[in-house]
This record gives sequence, structure tokens and C-alpha cells, in this order.
Amino acid sequence: MAHQRFDVAVIGGGIAGTSVAAELSKDRRVLLLEMESQPGYHTTGRSAAVYAAVYGPSPIRALTRTSRAFFTSPSASHFSTALFRPRPIMMIARQEQALALDQTIAEVGVMTPVERINESAIRKLNPLVKTGYASAAMLDMSGEDIDVAALHQGYLRQFRDFGGDLRCNATVLGLTHTGRDWQINTGGGEFTVDTIVNAAGAWAEHIGGLAQAESIGLIPKRRTAAIVAAPTELAPNTLASLPITIDIEENFYLKPDAGRLLISPADETPSPACDAQPEDMDIALCVERIEQAFDLQVHRIESKWAGLRSFVVDKCPVVGYSTTAPAFFWLAGQGGYGIQTAPALARLAASQVLQRPMPEDIAAEGVDLSEIDPSRLANRAE
Ligand SMILES: Cc1cc2nc3c(=O)[nH]c(=O)nc-3n(C[C@H](O)[C@H](O)[C@H](O)COP(=O)(O)OP(=O)(O)OC[C@H]3O[C@@H](n4cnc5c(N)ncnc54)[C@H](O)[C@@H]3O)c2cc1C
Repeated sequence: MAHQRFDVAVIGGGIAGTSVAAELSKDRRVLLLEMESQPGYHTTGRSAAVYAAVYGPSPIRALTRTSRAFFTSPSASHFSTALFRPRPIMMIARQEQALALDQTIAEVGVMTPVERINESAIRKLNPLVKTGYASAAMLDMSGEDIDVAALHQGYLRQFRDFGGDLRCNATVLGLTHTGRDWQINTGGGEFTVDTIVNAAGAWAEHIGGLAQAESIGLIPKRRTAAIVAAPTELAPNTLASLPITIDIEENFYLKPDAGRLLISPADETPSPACDAQPEDMDIALCVERIEQAFDLQVHRIESKWAGLRSFVVDKCPVVGYSTTAPAFFWLAGQGGYGIQTAPALARLAASQVLQRPMPEDIAAEGVDLSEIDPSRLANRAE
């Protein structure tokens, strides 16, 4: 079969691959390769869908802040519904966690307005928090729920409108550089491209290996979530407006989800890249931690899932050309922040792929390429 030719192949149809493919398709002929029968099956379809500008290391917070403008006013022709719905972020601390709370407020409060609140304010915002459990909290009123499906579908629409070509059931099995261009072997087809963008989520290290690129030390970590009924005495309006309530040291979180509660033990268990499934032990741990902090008896798990959040050693994303494989670009390691940072990361990655200057709004938030470039990871391990 004749090789089909494109300028760029993006590997992975999750939020990272789809959004960067949509950006690149404005200027280049782009092929988006996804091994599943539909894009978004893995981590992108399994998130808690939260935008929290106070979450993650400093480069993540800068990328999250830059993404806000896109979320609040996406292009109407591609994104059919509003992408944001207000969801305050409340990070609660027990008396013995006061230091962790103060440190977090001092660190994130510089760029995002946050408030330190006391127990009665906590229980006013979330009456499920047990009396006497939390002594103080950090409140960030700029948090939002993200409509992840609308975001992902909108980027796919934009990609197609600009002439992009999505192939599903197309597992990348082999990558060969001829000295001039890349030959890509997917079970069902052969492609020739100038540049490869590796946005394969938990599989990004494996794809790097196929290209003989450097190792970035990517570790997929499993996180579990479950849906349970809310207490019947909680009025529907109160339930709908609860803040996402997170332990300050990230040992659990709880948020409303379509008339129910989404709970998570905030686990981070190293895992091979796979179709992650929830483990009974993690669900049991989740229920124990949630029942300790909240007036909530979990009688039944209505649904449960797990997904892989992939990190490198400094928990910052890996965005930039490989130092060893030619014309091979990394877009990996988005960890637990890949949805909220996607709009900025897609534009930043596209500008780097095309060797253009960083977009001004991203630079203005203080994003520093040396903190995300793959070369920073040479000789570093977790
Ligand atoms: C429980 C949980 C809660 C989370 N909550 C949040 C949150 O509130 N906010 C937030 O911003 N982030 C959150 N995240 C993190 C977020 O979901 C991820 O950072 C993001 O989805 C990563 O997107 P991705 O495109 O890199 O990966 P993926 O969505 O996994 O996409 C990678 C794609 O690559 C494809 N692929 C792999 N190998 C190949 C191959 N050989 N050939 C072709 N295709 C291949 C896969 O099939 C997959 O579709 C959460 C994650 C979890 C698990």
C-alpha cells in the first residue's frame, strides 16, 4: 500500500493530542492517530473535570491561569456549549495540618486570590464536613467545573474543519526515521510525515522508545474515583453548589456530580500503561477517608473507575523536541492537570513544533521553557 503523506502526525487522541492537533491543523496537514475505536477513552474520559488555578507546581498553575480566557470564551463555531460552571475549591485542614495550609496559601496566594476561612465558614459552604474535623481551609472562588466532553469534541470539530485527518483503531507499532522523514507503521496503514508529536498519555514513554528518543522517566499513576448517593437531607440546591472539598495534603476529595457525590482517595499508585481499573482496596480506602471527614454513610458504590495520571520527576509537563530523535516532539507528563492546562499547552506546543516564539499571553504568565523542556530531565530519576 502507498504511504500516505502528512506534515505532522500526532499520536494519541486524548485531550493533549486532540487540542495540539487542532492548533497545528491551522498551518499544517495533520494526521491524528488513536489506537482505540474512539478518542478520549483513556485518562481524558476519566477525570474529575475541575479547573483549579491553585493546583500543581508553579508552571502548571501558570498554564492553568493562561487557559482561563479560552475556557470562558471559546470559538462559538467549534465549541457548542459553555465549558465552565463555577465550582469553588475548598482545601480543608485539620489542626495538625495548619502548617501545610499556611504554606499552600503563601505559595499559591501570590497569583490567585484565596481566603483562609475558619470552621464555621467551612461548614456553611459544605455542611457535610464533620463538626470538629477541619479547623481551617483555603478557599479559591475562581474554581470551575469543566465540560470535558464539550472541550474534547470542540477541538475535534476544529481539527476536522481545518482539514485534519483522524484515524481510530490505528495503533502505532513502529517508527522509523529514514534520515529525511518518519515512516509510521500502524497495523492498518503506513504513513510518511516530517514531524511526530508524542501525546500518547500513559504510553508516551513507550512511543518515545519506538522512536529511539531519550527516556523521560514517565510514571503512570493510578487514581480511583467513585459515585455515591448524597444524604437525602441535603437540599438539591445545597448539593449542587457544594465546593469541591479537598484534603490540604490531597488524601481525598469530594464534589457534587449530577445530583450525586464524586469521591476519590486521591491515590497515586504506579502502574504500567494499561486500561486502568479500580481496585477494591482503593475503593475501601476511599470510603474510610470520606466517612472520617464527612457526615456521610456510603451504603453503595453506584459506579467506580480509575485512570492513569502520568508524571515525570518534577510533576511538570514535558513539552519540546527530543534531544536524540530527529523531529520528534514530546507532549507528555500532564499528570493530574491535563484538562485544565490543555488550551495553553496546545498553543504553546504548536508554537514550539513550528519553531515560533511563545504566545505572548503564555509568556506573560511566567511560563519558562526550561522548566518543561525534555532536556531538563537528563540524568534525573524519581
Ligand atoms: C481520576 C482522575 C481525575 C482527574 N481530574 C482532573 C481534573 O480535575 N482536572 C484536570 O485538569 N485533570 C484531571 N485529571 C488528569 C487528566 O485527565 C489528564 O492529565 C489528561 O486527560 C491527560 O490527557 P492525555 O491526552 O495526555 O492522555 P489520554 O487521554 O490517556 O490520551 C492518550 C491517548 O493516546 C492513545 N495511544 C496510546 N498509545 C498509542 C499508540 N501506540 N497508538 C495510537 N494511540 C495511542 C491512547 O489510546 C489515548 O487515547 C484527572 C485524571 C484522573 C485519572
